[in-house]
Amino acid sequence: MIFLSRFFKYVLEFIFPPFCIVCDGQLSLNDKLVCRSCLSDLKKVEGIVRTGVIDFDCIDEIRAGVYYDQKLQTLIHHFKYQRALALADAFADMLTPIILENALWRTSDLLIPVPLHKVKFRERSFNQSEEIAKALSGKVGIPCSADVLLRRTNTESQTQMADAQERVRNMTNVFVVKNTHTVSGKTVILIDDLITTGSTANACARVLKQHGAQKVYVLTVGRPYF
Ligand SMILES: [Zn+2]
Repeated sequence: MIFLSRFFKYVLEFIFPPFCIVCDGQLSLNDKLVCRSCLSDLKKVEGIVRTGVIDFDCIDEIRAGVYYDQKLQTLIHHFKYQRALALADAFADMLTPIILENALWRTSDLLIPVPLHKVKFRERSFNQSEEIAKALSGKVGIPCSADVLLRRTNTESQTQMADAQERVRNMTNVFVVKNTHTVSGKTVILIDDLITTGSTANACARVLKQHGAQKVYVLTVGRPYF
């Protein structure tokens, strides 16, 4: 049976060869949606991220996988808006060494994805951050909990608000923690696809700390060049 399904996969890929969604180059057999060359072109972020926009009073450290350039923009777009969920695995691969190579991070208790509001979740049918967190959980051996943190208001697009302090005010009371006992006394890594100003992550971290989280780290796939 496995042989047959592999055989049909080869036949299908012979008739319809898959191409990289970024460069249109032909994919190798083990590549999913994006080629190895495009992935290795993404510029790694070294060290701790400081956005310089907001004072992160509730976040202990922010780290990110790669810089947000044209290629990452294409990948994230396919991931979020065209359901290219197989990319979650490639994103998780970028983030795995950041956790495993950091003594403070790799002993964390929980991965928590930044939640979507239920209306947006229904529209999209998945939460991109949760897909990344689930893929990452299997690679780093830290459990992922997607039902601890909820988003109770559907905030307007952050990009429409130029003022950083206005963004912070807008994020007040957006998130709630459902199961206090799950986060109390724990070190949590908050997972998101991108970090821009950091106001969303900081609002999540604030409510997690109010419910007893000891440390809140933030890990995102991409960060912009500031
Ligand atoms: Zn490519």
